[in-house]
Amino acid sequence: MTIYEADVVIIGGGLCGALIAATLAETRPNLEILVIEAGASIDDRLAAVGAWASSASKGLSAPYADPLNDVYAPFPDSSANYLGDKRFKSTYLRRLGGSTWHWQGSTPRLLPSDFRMRSTYGVGIDWPLSYDVLEKWYARAERALGVSGDRAEWDGVHGAYRTTDFPMPPIWSSYSDRQLAQRIEGLEIDGRKATIRRTPQARNSQPYQDRPPCAGNSICIPICPIGAKYDATVHLRKATEHGATILDRTVAKRIRFANADIEAVELLRWSARGVEPAEARSRRGIYVLAAHAIESARLLLLSEAKDRSGQIGRNLMDHPTGQVVGLAPEAWYPFRGPPVTSGIDDWRDGAFRAHSAAWKLSLGNDGHGRFRTPEQAVSEWMRSGLIGASLRKKINEDGPRLFRMSWGSEQLPNPANTVELGVENDALGLPQVKLTYDIGDYTRAAFSTIRSSVLTIFAAADIRQAELDPDPLKYGGSGHILGTCRMAATAEQGVVDKDCRSFAYPGLFVVGGAVFPTVGTANPSLTAAALALRAAEAIAGLS
Ligand SMILES: Cc1cc2nc3c(=O)[nH]c(=O)nc-3n(C[C@H](O)[C@H](O)[C@H](O)COP(=O)(O)OP(=O)(O)OC[C@H]3O[C@@H](n4cnc5c(N)ncnc54)[C@H](O)[C@@H]3O)c2cc1C
Ligand code: SF4
Repeated sequence: MTIYEADVVIIGGGLCGALIAATLAETRPNLEILVIEAGASIDDRLAAVGAWASSASKGLSAPYADPLNDVYAPFPDSSANYLGDKRFKSTYLRRLGGSTWHWQGSTPRLLPSDFRMRSTYGVGIDWPLSYDVLEKWYARAERALGVSGDRAEWDGVHGAYRTTDFPMPPIWSSYSDRQLAQRIEGLEIDGRKATIRRTPQARNSQPYQDRPPCAGNSICIPICPIGAKYDATVHLRKATEHGATILDRTVAKRIRFANADIEAVELLRWSARGVEPAEARSRRGIYVLAAHAIESARLLLLSEAKDRSGQIGRNLMDHPTGQVVGLAPEAWYPFRGPPVTSGIDDWRDGAFRAHSAAWKLSLGNDGHGRFRTPEQAVSEWMRSGLIGASLRKKINEDGPRLFRMSWGSEQLPNPANTVELGVENDALGLPQVKLTYDIGDYTRAAFSTIRSSVLTIFAAADIRQAELDPDPLKYGGSGHILGTCRMAATAEQGVVDKDCRSFAYPGLFVVGGAVFPTVGTANPSLTAAALALRAAEAIAGLS
């Protein structure tokens, strides 16, 4: 059996694992860094784009299908029977580079109040650190990922002050953003003004760190053909340039603990030849678990990790989401640029959070988005009897008017929302995860306000034929998989401390959305990146 040795062993080659690997490799050249990644690497970006283009499916997994990867490190969609409880709607990608391959790239910060939900609104739990502590790490994370945004537009929104400019100017507002802004100028809903702001995003508005500016191809989900959108390959490349080693096609199956120390990580390396066991050991006893909120919890459960808080695998959260579509009053010309360039963030905080969830809106720049693709819209028009010249007229008139707005809402931690080990095994013989999940009454309480607010905005902008799901409680997943190994002030309340360091095993750091005690409304990856950079500094201090 092969035994790999290094100074720091990192499990998971996605956003957080890559950031820590690159930071340590760059700043501590004396350290040998080893990254263990379950999925295969994607060596040819354009081949992946080609796979998507020539696939009948235009779904999240279309660029990433790979017969062996799909068996040993499967993309956890419903056909892979991976996620158990179908009420949990979000998935993630098990390929080297992780879920940033197909993420949208929106990178707002959490708000100061998001870190103290219990003391401010009497719900959820407070984080063991504050916005003030994290602010400088947010700035570093924005520089690392390359975030485009406008400081003046965001400085102080809901108290989230900024001490630095964004590294790049904002991505342009789409034509539809500007049309909507004109039409709802001054609109107030329940005494609160609706303001359209350009979304901070990890997408180049100008050449940045050897990557080109966004060319507006609008297929960021599932893949950016030119690397203008940040993905974790940026930091994986930096890590290897500075001497780190990456083992792809290698699933961590168990962390072998010995009292408070870690002896080794047991591995299964897969290839066309079959599956080989191996081990990874850290000479300095330092391990980083960066395998995403579901897999990190799963690995700790498989490893029978000790935990005084009983919180491993609990408090699974997402940002439940939904959308409303309609027809703009005139041609707003979607698909010129990224799928989302602006949003409405005015309901992300307020006294209402004592009893109902905060939420935010994203303005689509992609017709009816996933609600109805352009092809589906044309099919529906044909089924309604349109053909020939009348169909052409409809396409010309209504195609450029398709408009979408989506919402994402907060969810509270609930220990009954769990990741557990299931009874069935995967292809490697490891128990699959079993999920139990409910969005909770706090989130459901916000749904009718969200829906009526969007309809008010549609009416003010003269957007017609609004369509929403007839089920008022229907929601989707944002791909934001959070909770499961939360950080806390004490070992009785959580799994890791404010440096992401395990209370039970001081040599183990758990990073990523798994450690979030509460989730606010910000897309989570910038916060996860800020926490990972902070953890990297703590690790550098140890070694
Ligand atoms: C469609 C979609 C859109 C999104 N849009 C946004 C957005 O706009 N903004 C935002 O902030 N976030 C967004 N997200 C979420 C974002 O992708 C994640 O927050 C982020 O990628 C998490 O980083 P991570 O390093 O924790 O995990 P990942 O990037 O998922 O990486 C984890 C890695 O660990 C590997 N791994 C898992 N188990 C093992 C194991 N046992 N052994 C070895 N390796 C293992 C996986 O293969 C994977 O490569 C989106 C997600 C989706 C699905
Ligand atoms: S719009 Fe196109 S070029 Fe720009 S980030 Fe998205 S996929 Fe890349």
